[in-house]
Amino acid sequence: MNLHEYQGKQILSSFGVRIQRGIVAQNPTEAVAAAKKLTEETGTGWHVIKAQIHAGGRGKGGGVKLAKNLQEVESLAGQIIGMDLITPQTPPEGKKVNQVLIAEDVYYPGDSEPEEYYMSVLLNRATGRNMIMYSTEGGMDIETVAEETPHLIFTEEIDPATGILPFQARKVAFNLGLSGAAFKEMVKFVTALYTAYAKSDSSLFEINPVLKTSDDKIMAVDAKVTLDDNALYRHKDYMEMRDEREENPTEVEAKKSGLNYVDLDGNVGCMVNGAGLAMATMDLIKQAGGEPANFLDVGGTADAKRVEEAFRLILKDDNVEAILVNIFGGIVRCDRVAQGIVDAYKNMGDEIKVPIIVRLQGTNADIAKELIDSSGLNVESAVEFKEAADKVQKVLS
Ligand code: GDP
Ligand code: MN
Repeated sequence: MNLHEYQGKQILSSFGVRIQRGIVAQNPTEAVAAAKKLTEETGTGWHVIKAQIHAGGRGKGGGVKLAKNLQEVESLAGQIIGMDLITPQTPPEGKKVNQVLIAEDVYYPGDSEPEEYYMSVLLNRATGRNMIMYSTEGGMDIETVAEETPHLIFTEEIDPATGILPFQARKVAFNLGLSGAAFKEMVKFVTALYTAYAKSDSSLFEINPVLKTSDDKIMAVDAKVTLDDNALYRHKDYMEMRDEREENPTEVEAKKSGLNYVDLDGNVGCMVNGAGLAMATMDLIKQAGGEPANFLDVGGTADAKRVEEAFRLILKDDNVEAILVNIFGGIVRCDRVAQGIVDAYKNMGDEIKVPIIVRLQGTNADIAKELIDSSGLNVESAVEFKEAADKVQKVLS
């Protein structure tokens, strides 16, 4: 689950990581109130208005603006809220901005060169350890740094059993070229950051930039946080941070029906039970010259209601030219599933405009095939994997 910058910063702050402080606002009036409150709390005169969307590169797209007085806070918040923000990380049409973070300006006027660093914490799957990746080249696209100046990116592997050790935190501060008070601040910062990552069960923290102010404070100016969905049950308070407006609407709907659905770009919809079979079916579709339009695991209970929900989800996608149903009847009987398909089809009437190829294998597969074949509907049955692929190929050509 991805979080907004302001939510990520809340988590960081709760573990003692210094952050650029801010207050989220839904409209220009709230933005002005937030700015006043921040001035009272921090003494800041200027504010940064930051679009809150689940994508980075907002600065480049015009989603991060500096306001030098309350009028500017109001007008900039009005401009940014409601805009379709286009960044290198959004879809081409952009993402609608629903809220902004009003943040204290931490780039002090007269501070000719504030230092910006890059820092992320992530899981290194190859070693089974966590990894801190960091660089002196903050504020820029880390992919570009990796391509052009890879020697400026450092990594530190952390054993999850021990957590970050003091010498490792000092190494990070040293490699970033720090000394004196800033060195000590960085040691504190990176230690707290790693602890926050581990304790929040995150799978990614990306802080770009980490800022060193001219008075040697180290703080997170940005925060991209991805929480591990499988550990969310341990964090009821984080669960509430989900912003469904940022997610794919079909995927949100699928989740509510208990279906495992991932939207893809292809032309063949698939309905499968079990993730492994779903992956194999996607390969099959590719071999037949098609492209999967989705990944869909209907799980163990493929009754008429579920099948109908699954059909509806798949058919929301206008690119779908055919549907391949590939279900193994182990616990669920094939004839039940076949009946479900026939009932769902009849229920949906002319909503289904594309051919359906059904492969049911396992318990009562023969009865299932007969049910499908005698239904009189635009549904074709297949027994073998290859046969299913050929039938998909035929309807696509
Ligand atoms: P991103 O573009 O989505 O990565 O958003 P960031 O939160 O990283 O902000 C983009 C850029 O805005 C940063 O790299 C900074 O250069 C700038 N910025 C952020 N906070 C401040 C601030 O307090 N004052 C000023 N002057 N610039 C800021
Ligand atoms: Mn950033």
